[in-house]
Formats: sequence, C-alpha cells, structure tokens
Amino acid sequence: MGKIIIIGAGIIGMLTARILIKSGISVCIIEQGYAGRESSWAGGGIISPLYPWRYDGSVTRLAQWGQQHYPGVLDKIYQSSGIDPEYIQSGLLYLDIEDELEQAKAWETQYHYPFTAVSGDDLSTLEVELNHSFKQGWFTDSIAQVRNPRLVRSLREDLLRLGVTIEQQTQAQSFIIENNHLRGVVTDKGTFYGDRIVVAGGAWSSRLLEQWVKIPKIAPVKGQMIVFKAQPGLVSRIILSKGRYVIPRKDGRVVVGSTLEFDEFDKTTTQDVLEELKQEAVRIIPALKNYPVEKQWAGLRPGSIDGVPYIGEHPELKNLYMNAGHFRNGVVIGLASCQLLVDQLLGQQTIMDPTPYLLTDDRLVSDSRLIDLRMAI
Ligand SMILES: Cc1cc2nc3c(=O)[nH]c(=O)nc-3n(C[C@H](O)[C@H](O)[C@H](O)COP(=O)(O)OP(=O)(O)OC[C@H]3O[C@@H](n4cnc5c(N)ncnc54)[C@H](O)[C@@H]3O)c2cc1C
Repeated sequence: MGKIIIIGAGIIGMLTARILIKSGISVCIIEQGYAGRESSWAGGGIISPLYPWRYDGSVTRLAQWGQQHYPGVLDKIYQSSGIDPEYIQSGLLYLDIEDELEQAKAWETQYHYPFTAVSGDDLSTLEVELNHSFKQGWFTDSIAQVRNPRLVRSLREDLLRLGVTIEQQTQAQSFIIENNHLRGVVTDKGTFYGDRIVVAGGAWSSRLLEQWVKIPKIAPVKGQMIVFKAQPGLVSRIILSKGRYVIPRKDGRVVVGSTLEFDEFDKTTTQDVLEELKQEAVRIIPALKNYPVEKQWAGLRPGSIDGVPYIGEHPELKNLYMNAGHFRNGVVIGLASCQLLVDQLLGQQTIMDPTPYLLTDDRLVSDSRLIDLRMAI
C-alpha cells in the first residue's frame, strides 16, 4: 500500500500514524492547528472511563485493551522522545456511588475489575486530606493516568523520529473523488493524495464530511477544567464524586474537572465554572482552599451518542476511513481503536470484533442539525 493521509493530529490521528508507520506504511498527517493542541491536550488523562458501568460493553472492551497495552507503548514513546508522559498508577477512588452500586458490582464481576470498599479510618489512610464527611468509598488501585500535554508532545516527537510527516496549520477543506473512490484531500496549502484517507478530526470530523457523505453522530461537547498549584503528596489518588474529579499530577499540581456543555465550537471559559470547580475541589479536598488556581481551560470532546467511537471504512465512499467520536474516553479507548482501525486498513486479523464500531446506516445522519447529544453519557 502507498501513502495514508490522516486528517487530525490529536491523540487518535497520532496513535494511528504510529501504528501504521511501524507496519511499514508511509503516513502524512494534516493538522489545521498544531499537533495535539485540542481535546487531546485539554483532557484529564485518566486511563479509565468514569463510571464505566454506564457504558456499553463495546467501550469496556476497548478500554481494557488500552489499559493492558499502554504501559509498554508509553515506555517506548518516552524512550524515543525523551519526554515523560507521566504514566502513573494512582488508583481511582469512587465516592457517592451508593445509588448505582448494584450496577457497578455486576460490571466489576463481569469484567474482573476488583473494587475494594473503604470506610472510616481506612478512607483517611488512603487519602489523608479527603473531606472527613465522606464515610464510604470504593477503590480500584489498577487505574492509571497520563498527563495530556506531555503525552501529545512525546507522541509528536516520537512520530517525527519515526518519519511521519505532520503538516501543521493546514486545513482539510474538500476532497478529490473519482468513481466513488476518495483520492485526495484539498487543503488551504494544496492537495494531498493518498491510497486511503483517515478522518481523525475529533469534534470537527462530521462537519468536515457533511457536504460529501452521510455523517456519524459526532458533535462538540465542551469540558472546562482548572489546575491548582499544590504540593506533591497533598492528593495521591484520582478521586471522583458526583461527576467531578481531582487528579494529582507528579509535581503536586491537582487538575479538577470537568463540565459537559453543549456549546457548538466555543472553547471560552467562564467565571461561573471557575467558581463551581473550585468549590467542588474544596468539597472533596478541603486543603485545596490554601492553594492558587494556576490556569483554567476548555476542550471540545468529540461527543457521540453512546460514547462508542466510529472506526472503519465509510459505506458510501471507498478509501474514506474514520476513527472519531471517542467522547469522554479518547485516551483510554484510543489505543485499541487505532489498532482496530489499522487492522482493517491493512486487512489483517482484528484485535477484537469490529462490528459495534462500524459506520452502519443506523449510526449515520445526513444533517448535523439532527445530532443532539444532550441525553448522552
Ligand atoms: C475536559 C476534558 C477531559 C477529558 N478527560 C479524559 C480522560 O480523563 N480520559 C480520557 O480517556 N479521555 C478524556 N477526554 C476525552 C479525550 O481527550 C478525547 O476523547 C480525545 O482527546 C479525542 O482525541 P481526537 O484525536 O479524536 O480529537 P482532538 O484531540 O480534538 O484532535 C482532533 C484534531 O483534528 C484537527 N482537525 C479537525 N478538523 C480538521 C481539518 N479540517 N483539517 C485539519 N485538521 C483538522 C483538530 O485541529 C485537532 O487537532 C477529555 C476531554 C476533555 C475536553
């Protein structure tokens, strides 16, 4: 096979490129901004879906594959790039899940994720600065995290070393189509030809394709985050309570997130959310009130109805492939989704059954105005 063109240098485009070039395929990524500066930069980097029992088993299968393979892959990327993506097995402490305990336990048994119930003094031993008003939690120590800005930088460096071309500040605008086969991508910097074109454009993926083919139900879902400049050891676990989480980074900073806002392609941050996230952080870890908020930001998740990404060839146009719609879980499920796409691109044995992720007619629409994700996970 000749060259593969990937549209989008987020984590999905870059991991896809990495697997392809390691299989001996020449790859060019077209990125309208800078590599890894959108959702993949903005995210929390938790290598687990939050409340994973709320998702379809097809999401869990991708997540499990990723959790198994990330340590080895990240180690290689670190060695090659010299940039530490800060993979840390912090464990994840769930609070306030009493209402869904039955569902969580059934899921835990089915997928073999051991949760340990923790209460009283054990809770304060596990997380010293946790608000004493919490009496009960459920802990799983296998869950890890990465630090997104470092992950995307290390991945970009690794790709450049491996020989992937990344055309930054180059926007895909239209396509060259001949006899129902996609041949090339027209950008503001010229036309790029390839044997296959992969759309990994995150939240923008469906908008790009709208005039050409039926599109997956993908739309932007804004998430705002803040980071406290705290000290190492203040928080040691990822802690989740009532949809809000704190993530302790290696240098002591504590990331707090995140909102789910259905705001089109708007990434502005707001004072209301800043105050709300600060309050939520202090509700979980009271000592955070003593530390300054260093930064607030927002990213646009590639929202999909049920969080199940679209992975595979488009049914209407030959040579057009997609890997998009990872919603809240692009890091944890991204690695498996990229391998699954590459398996299909190269016609090799797939790592799992690709059926749930295919671009079947029931998962496509012809008009983006029909996409309403407000009921989504
Ligand atoms: C606040 C927040 C917290 C999150 N926390 C987590 C978490 O803890 N764990 C987890 O697993 N996931 C998390 N996520 C989700 C995860 O970050 C996303 O699912 C993932 O980053 C999606 O990756 P992507 O490559 O598809 O999209 P992106 O990173 O957005 O990349 C898409 C790229 O395509 C480019 N592009 C789009 N259109 C064009 C075009 N026409 N031409 C050229 N380039 C184009 C864009 O510029 C962009 O760089 C979080 C997301 C947010 C916003």
